[in-house]
Amino acid sequence: MADTNGAGTLRPLAGARRVVVKLGTALLTGAVDQLDLPTMQDLVGQVVALRERGVEVVVVTSGAVAAGRQALEERDSAPDALPAPRERTPLLRQVLAAVGQSRLMHVYEQLFGARGVIVAQALLTRGDVDDEIRRKNTQNTLEELLKLGVVPVVNENDVVANDELEGVIIGDNDTLSGMVARMLSADLLIILGEVAGLYSADPNVHPDVELIPEVLDLEALAADVSGPLSPTARGGMVTKIQAAREITAAGIDVIIADGHQPDVLARLLAGEPLGTWFSAQRAEEATPFDQAQDRLRQAQGERLV
Ligand code: GLU
Repeated sequence: MADTNGAGTLRPLAGARRVVVKLGTALLTGAVDQLDLPTMQDLVGQVVALRERGVEVVVVTSGAVAAGRQALEERDSAPDALPAPRERTPLLRQVLAAVGQSRLMHVYEQLFGARGVIVAQALLTRGDVDDEIRRKNTQNTLEELLKLGVVPVVNENDVVANDELEGVIIGDNDTLSGMVARMLSADLLIILGEVAGLYSADPNVHPDVELIPEVLDLEALAADVSGPLSPTARGGMVTKIQAAREITAAGIDVIIADGHQPDVLARLLAGEPLGTWFSAQRAEEATPFDQAQDRLRQAQGERLV
């Protein structure tokens, strides 16, 4: 059921203590293959503000391919030297990501560093998540980083994972962010992009279509979610919904929202009805112990806000 009656009511998210924030390519680059530094600076400031309130944050970032393209184009000063996004071969994407990933991390390092926060890079492939030992190692490392107050910045390891290597590639960072959220038993996954959330139809085609503020039952969702969001984005609404399905089933809330809204992260955690909230499926299965824990975390969160 896609419930549109929830608009205006606060969401029960104030207790979230561990949050995965996914930043999409279109948001970080304005869909023009250039890192949008003011936007990144603003988002980094928001992440730091959450940390200062005791919320653990893991960032899943896109933008490596875009940053790589920007670097090579700056050097060659020939705007058409590289094929358009949709015409890129898997190899070219790998090459661009290899160039761009270090640029991307450099920007994060500078922006977080200016606020006294250390970041760590974690590049993952599907194999790292599917294999039990590698998953455990990854999980231990991320847990330890969080304990140390470091902000892990995760991306897919595009250099070793391409579309031709089936079973290795994760493919898009919506799916990756879902995997990270599950691996770390996060309370909340926030997928920030350029769109305001989930609509019942494509808002570019149907301008009067309404945003769906909350989805309580994904199986009953009747929205047309086909089509990618921008030429540079890897995922689209389909991958976001798929991630939401798996993550909410694992008891984790998911929100899709417009990352350009002022102070979006704090407002989302305060329960403001921005974007689309996919409610975690936990009520029926929750044991009395889980319910008590939920209430405790909720109460702690309310005291913090
Ligand atoms: N890993 C890709 C990058 O950093 C992005 C994949 C995605 O946007 O989903 O450019």
